[in-house]
Amino acid sequence: MIIAERKPINEIMEMVKDVKRVLVLGCKGCVTVCSAGGEREVEILASLIRLGANKQGRTVEVTDGALVRQCDKEYIDGLDNWKGKYDAIVSMACGVGVNFIANLRPETIVYPGVNTSFLGGSAEQGVWSEQCAGCGNCILHLTGGLCPVARCAKSLMNGPCGGSQGGRCEINPDVNCIWQSIHDRLERTGKKEDMLRVAPIRDWSTAGHGGPRKVVRDDLTV
Ligand code: SF4
Ligand code: SF4
Repeated sequence: MIIAERKPINEIMEMVKDVKRVLVLGCKGCVTVCSAGGEREVEILASLIRLGANKQGRTVEVTDGALVRQCDKEYIDGLDNWKGKYDAIVSMACGVGVNFIANLRPETIVYPGVNTSFLGGSAEQGVWSEQCAGCGNCILHLTGGLCPVARCAKSLMNGPCGGSQGGRCEINPDVNCIWQSIHDRLERTGKKEDMLRVAPIRDWSTAGHGGPRKVVRDDLTV
């Protein structure tokens, strides 16, 4: 899922400093699961904006709500539920949601309420870690299911750098060297010889460095 974190309240207050009616809009997708922008977090942010405005000696009308998803055209129409009730939206969806509202509602002012962090999962209560960088050319079948693109600090494709120490990454000793983990997993699963495979020069054209990417599924388009 997409992992996000709420922006600092001061940053959000600066965005809405001239707004009289704010809609704080959550999303019931990934940001609900990672406790960044679901209905509970929306209520909290709405209260913080009211309190912040109060402290500044002004009154802001704050409405809160949530859409099923903000990354789907059909659900953005749900904004009509609050028609005429806001001058600007603070979206607590990931950046995709903010972009979708901006794409589909050209006249609507929309601000990001969260920082979108990465594609990851919940490792333990309250802790999320990055697992995939969305490179568009998955090689997990060669690396024991562990991703060196996202989880090696140098995105190395042919085994560890020289700095791995005791199974820890030289860039950050708090994290495992993913190449050590790949090695150990391949060994455990009887595929250690895969470590000897020399990865061909990687085609990064599917990754996110050449402008916006698109997936078109002919079987689903109408
Ligand atoms: S190889 Fe690419 S698609 Fe596969 S998990 Fe890593 S970043 Fe994601
Ligand atoms: S120590 Fe391991 S994870 Fe860290 S940069 Fe080197 S190969 Fe990558």
